[in-house]
Amino acid sequence: MSKTTLKIQDITMQFGGITAIDNLSFEVKEGQIYGLIGPNGAGKTTIFNIITGNYQPTKGDIIFQDKTITGTKPNLVVQKGIARTFQNIRLFKSMSVLDNILIGFHNRSHYSYLEAIFRLPRYFTQEKKIKAEAMAILDEFSLTEFVNHKATDLSYGNQRKVEIARAIATKPSLLLLDEPAAGMNPSETEDLSTIIHKIKKDFNLSILLIEHDMKFVNNMCDLVTVLDYGEKIFDGKPADAIVDEKVITAYLGDFTHA
Ligand code: ATP
Repeated sequence: MSKTTLKIQDITMQFGGITAIDNLSFEVKEGQIYGLIGPNGAGKTTIFNIITGNYQPTKGDIIFQDKTITGTKPNLVVQKGIARTFQNIRLFKSMSVLDNILIGFHNRSHYSYLEAIFRLPRYFTQEKKIKAEAMAILDEFSLTEFVNHKATDLSYGNQRKVEIARAIATKPSLLLLDEPAAGMNPSETEDLSTIIHKIKKDFNLSILLIEHDMKFVNNMCDLVTVLDYGEKIFDGKPADAIVDEKVITAYLGDFTHA
């Protein structure tokens, strides 16, 4: 049986009087694409913020590759191998596509501050290597032609790809994607599905994604957990989720828009 990459164990998150997550548990196995779905306000982004160390849960643990990482600081979570993208694309707007990707390498540079200031040989060797790696990642996303463009000059779909490419530059083994297909047209969504499957294979990733587009979820995910008001109401295959009565009631027919 394949190994567990991420274990969400009995997580509860309260904000004042609101229980945003109520005793939630699920597991993402190595190499899986796992979907986290549910209506607005169900608690999906809160779970991402707990995994990445932005929120400390009221109760429960996050276990990544057999180690408890609950409450670990966000920059250390990245170093441990978890990268994320955001619901609203967050790029350095005035910087080029290449520079946005190079930022992803920041955590992994092996030269010292002084070596960088004095431009010592190790700095140049590293920088050359990093740039080559960044170009290889951009090629994977078919973004090579935009390398020197300003990030904001790209189409919405391509900006989304740059954001994912930057996450890949941190060398994650787990990638968290928050509504990757949001705001995309059908052809951009299809292109994104193909790329996600490809990077999963090429970079040996496990993926946890939040998404509302059920056609996309059905096409992408091995398994899903459905949340409603912070409670798990379904665990299983996406095809079974869309015919589950509890899930249909929670969405009140939202699937008709899928
Ligand atoms: P959406 O699909 O709209 O993004 P979601 O499923 O991601 O929704 P969350 O953003 O996780 O939902 O929110 C779950 C609940 O927790 C909501 O009631 C929200 O208002 C509340 N919540 C989230 N973050 C905070 C916070 N920092 N302070 C107070 N309440 C919060």
